[in-house]
Amino acid sequence: MGIRLKIPKSHVRAESLKKREALIDAEEKGIVAKAGLIAHGRGEAFDYLMGEVTIPPALFATRAAAASLILAEHPIISVNGNTAALVPADAVSLAKLVPADLEVNLFYRNRRREIAVKSALIRAGAKKVLGTGSSASARIPELFSERRRVDPRGIYSADVILVPLEDGDRTMALKKMGKFVITIDLNPLSRTAQTADITIVDNIVRALPNLLRAVEELKRLNEQELKGIIERFDNRRNLSETILFIRDRLTAMAKEE
Ligand code: ATP
Repeated sequence: MGIRLKIPKSHVRAESLKKREALIDAEEKGIVAKAGLIAHGRGEAFDYLMGEVTIPPALFATRAAAASLILAEHPIISVNGNTAALVPADAVSLAKLVPADLEVNLFYRNRRREIAVKSALIRAGAKKVLGTGSSASARIPELFSERRRVDPRGIYSADVILVPLEDGDRTMALKKMGKFVITIDLNPLSRTAQTADITIVDNIVRALPNLLRAVEELKRLNEQELKGIIERFDNRRNLSETILFIRDRLTAMAKEE
């Protein structure tokens, strides 16, 4: 066990430090891989550049994501170690609301981590979790080793997949399989962000609650209205607006000096 920080509530970075502590705890419990801690650091750097708030393009992408999940015939929410550590309850609530199935989807897959992620979801209220043990028997073409294992009842046969914090190779492989891919990724330049159909550039701790609210609101719309929201969304343009937002924010900050 590592030494735990006592974080004063008034600390200017209290929220960010609490998330780090949660991830370190989860790493010790086998939920998060060591590389997951590094990936979180990369995400934090982009979050800092955006002011650690949800920016307008992220909200726009969230509405398109919600409409796509509602219209999907077989939607799946993919859960990795970081997602299970940071927002297990929101992932479970979203799955119930859409409704969609939850699937454990790991870059660094081993039996201990599979069980740890599944248990975190069950503790958060999930009744059914796909993608562990012999259930992960299907293979994503063009990927090798344990990275390609998926559940034939889940990601393999899904039409729409929410894959937060995903790696670029797997996102590209899912696209080649014809899947409609929604991601949450703080880095607008990552291969995942650039390859997905819809990229929500935001911290998952803010993005999932926003997505829950959007699904709740948009569920009242009819099919045509939902299709209209998706058609008006252009991921490339939205990513450009995100990058320009960061540029303008940094320019304004530089001028304040
Ligand atoms: P790619 O392979 O897609 O080019 P990468 O090599 O950075 O990108 P990974 O390290 O596999 O991909 O994925 C981690 C991604 O998740 C990073 O882009 C990081 O910015 C993002 N990320 C990490 N923590 C969070 C978080 N809490 N919320 C949203 N995104 C996050």
